[in-house]
Order: sequence, then C-alpha cells, then structure tokens
Amino acid sequence: MTIDIIEPNSFCFGVKKAIDLVENICDEYKDKNIILFGELVHNKFVMNQLIKKGVKVVDFDKNTAECMLNSFNSNDIVIFSAHGHDKKYEEILKKNHVKFFDATCPIVNFSLKKIESSKLPIIFIGKKGHPETLASLSRNDEVYLYDIKEGIDFSKVNTKNVVVMNQTTLSIFEIEEIYKEIRKHFPNAIFTDEICNASRVRQEKVVTLEKDYDLFIIIGDKNSSNTTKLYEISKKSKFHDTLFISNISDLDGIDFKKYQKVALFSGTSCPKELIEEVKEYLKRI
Ligand code: SF4
Repeated sequence: MTIDIIEPNSFCFGVKKAIDLVENICDEYKDKNIILFGELVHNKFVMNQLIKKGVKVVDFDKNTAECMLNSFNSNDIVIFSAHGHDKKYEEILKKNHVKFFDATCPIVNFSLKKIESSKLPIIFIGKKGHPETLASLSRNDEVYLYDIKEGIDFSKVNTKNVVVMNQTTLSIFEIEEIYKEIRKHFPNAIFTDEICNASRVRQEKVVTLEKDYDLFIIIGDKNSSNTTKLYEISKKSKFHDTLFISNISDLDGIDFKKYQKVALFSGTSCPKELIEEVKEYLKRI
C-alpha cells in the first residue's frame, strides 16, 4: 500500500498566526490568567496543547458571552478566536480595563470589515452558530443568514438589492448552487466570494486527485468547517472510499487490505504530527 500526504496540509497561515500569537502571549504574560474566549481553532489536539501551556478556554454562547466578559478582571488576558467575534465584546473588556488580543484570521477580518461598511443589505451564507457566522451577523444591522443546512426565508429579506457574502471555509461547489437559488430571488444581487485560498486549494485537490487513489483519509475535527467540507466533497466521488478521522484511534478495526493507494488530506487546523502519525500507523499494518 502506498500512502501519500497531499499538499497543502496542516496549518494554514491564519491558524499558524493565531497559535503563534497565543504562544507569545503565554511567554510574555506568565503572571496573568490567559483566557481563550471560545476555541482558538477547531482542533482538540491543538487546544489541549495550549491548555497544557496554562491557557484556560471558556465556552460561551450569545446569551452568556456578556456576563462572562464582565466577570474578567485586570489579572486576566483575553484572546479572541481565529474565527472572529462580536465587536461589542471588545468594548466590554475596554470598559472593565481588561487587556485583550485578537487572533482573528486576516481573511476573516477582511470579510468582517466589508460587512461593517456595506451600504447594501447582506445575505450571509454560513453555518448557523459557527463563530464566524455569529461575528458576521453582529457587524451590521442588515445581515440576513442563509444557513447552509436550512436555507433562508426569502420573504423576510425586505429589499431589492443585496450583497451576498459567505463564511470563508464553505465548499466552492455548494456555494455555486446556493448562488443560483439566490439569483432567482435577487437577479441584481452582487456576489463577493469570500472562500479563502487555503480552503479552496484543498477542495480542488480532492477533486483533481479523485481517480489516483482508492482511499482518501480526511484528518481533522468534526466541528472544523473546512475539514467537513473536504469530507463532504470527497465522499461524493465514485472512484474511492473516504474516511473522516480525528486521530489514529479512529482507524481501529478498519480493514485496509483492499486498498492499494491511500491519500491523506488534512483540514487547516490539523497539526503535522497527527498526519505523520496516521501515515506511520498505515505503514505498520
Ligand atoms: S481556513 Fe482560511 S479563513 Fe480560516 S484561518 Fe485558515 S486562512 Fe483563515
């Protein structure tokens, strides 16, 4: 059996930048409580590594966020995740004199700024409840969510002209179908495709290599949007089987005898060592 690790893999620049920021803060503020406000990136292995460094991770939702932010004090350093956040969270911390850092990926930030400054109402295509979606909805009063699972009630979008924006980690194929549907309701809609290059290139690789392997293994966490999209695209292929795993323990009990050529893909928040571990595991069997 041959096993290839497909490029690009492991961290994208946005994830790497966010992790570097947290590590630098840990080194610089050893006497403070370092608090990640939500998961920095969607990968448990990475999060556990940061927790081992002494970082505390707090979960929140729309209803609990403000109360939690108000509970922090000047001994705390708060770090916002790579996915973006509601701007008013920063105001609460400023008011309470709590130091904070923003680990938002520059590509997400660019999209959020476009939302903030849009003069037209926006239809935002994204996953309901995802931090980037919540951040996007918070940046302008006229943002209507097109949820990638449930769609949208077009009758509630009370305007003729709209800008259509999207979460940066969606599927390049799925979004085309959604565009067609929106175009039927808003023939003059302006579409600004915000899918980031790190997600786009990996998705294209899944399609272009589909005939070259008989098994694709997608490595990353199930709550990672870009990894889930790789899996969804891959499993549509009739040329190969697809597995979606978080680590090697997910491979236990699987019979690999029928496979000759295996391709390993990873989401953008999956560390290199997890990918190498999968390769070593497969080489041993
Ligand atoms: S997947 Fe894209 S948007 Fe998300 S952190 Fe990486 S580069 Fe940024």
